[in-house]
Amino acid sequence: MRVLITGGAGFLGSHLCDHFLAEGHTVIAMDNLITGNTANIEHLARHPKFLFIKHDVTNYIYIGGKLDAVLHFASPASPIDYLELPIQTLKVGALGTHKALGLAKAKSAKLLLASTSEVYGDPLVHPQTEEYWGNVNPIGPRGVYDEAKRFAEAITMAYHRYHGVDTRIVRIFNTFGERMRLNDGRVVPNFIAQALENKPLTVFGDGLQTRSFCYVSDLVEGIYRLLHSDETDPVNIGNPKEMTILQFAHKIIELTDSSSEITFVQPKDQRIKDDPKQRQPDIGKAKRILDWEPQVDINDGLAKAIAYFRNKLAHQ
Ligand code: UDP
Repeated sequence: MRVLITGGAGFLGSHLCDHFLAEGHTVIAMDNLITGNTANIEHLARHPKFLFIKHDVTNYIYIGGKLDAVLHFASPASPIDYLELPIQTLKVGALGTHKALGLAKAKSAKLLLASTSEVYGDPLVHPQTEEYWGNVNPIGPRGVYDEAKRFAEAITMAYHRYHGVDTRIVRIFNTFGERMRLNDGRVVPNFIAQALENKPLTVFGDGLQTRSFCYVSDLVEGIYRLLHSDETDPVNIGNPKEMTILQFAHKIIELTDSSSEITFVQPKDQRIKDDPKQRQPDIGKAKRILDWEPQVDINDGLAKAIAYFRNKLAHQ
């Protein structure tokens, strides 16, 4: 296959580039580098089947030659990024998805959309199944991401139904691993960096909100299987092992052998507003149709992420 990966210099995008190249495919990575970084794909620079194009996918996308699949992963993806880049977040989810779909249609390529557990908002159904329609505040700080991704799902289904584009939608739950940005504000890099520097871990609110964390290699495998399946409705991919953020903070302190304490903070900005209280993917559908479930134990995944961040901190 010859595939285009938008957001290819980002955290997930760069891991997808690695995976598709390892499977023998040709990869074109596209990124405007506002949250992505070429350091994530530096090791691929001389790979004969890899090409990087710096481009903002909210504008017309030109790719010469055949294309078998477009994986649309370009987007700011952390609550801090949405606060700092609200318009870009809306534009890449809406206009960027439109351009990616137009390209897929023109090339008769498959289109796989990176959607998100955020389409469920602060969920009233637990665990979240694909049938749940969500509980989203359109005008809150997360609205720019949540609604852009909801629009992205809608336009993807419209191109599928009206134009016959062969589409896939993956709803990605919290994922972690190497190449997350140290300063992206998400809980995994924040806690690991704080623990490694023996600074207090900043637990937002009471820390009783829950998440479940999937190691990146598991996520990539799930996405690869979804692309090769026939499923055109959304599929949740994530790890169902749920824990509170407070439990997660203790885990990070233990795994880093840190002397950090825990501090409960109410960020002055809007980071905590509309923070989903409970999140866990129901992965029954992925198990059934993709024969997929996470394989990596969270402690093993975290050990790799900790080693990565330790090295980053030493070199910054
Ligand atoms: N969080 C926290 N301390 C931090 C960063 C995040 O307690 O320094 C909490 C945040 O309020 C949320 C959870 O950790 O409940 C996960 O946040 P993240 O930004 O990683 O992603 P989200 O799942 O909210 O999109």
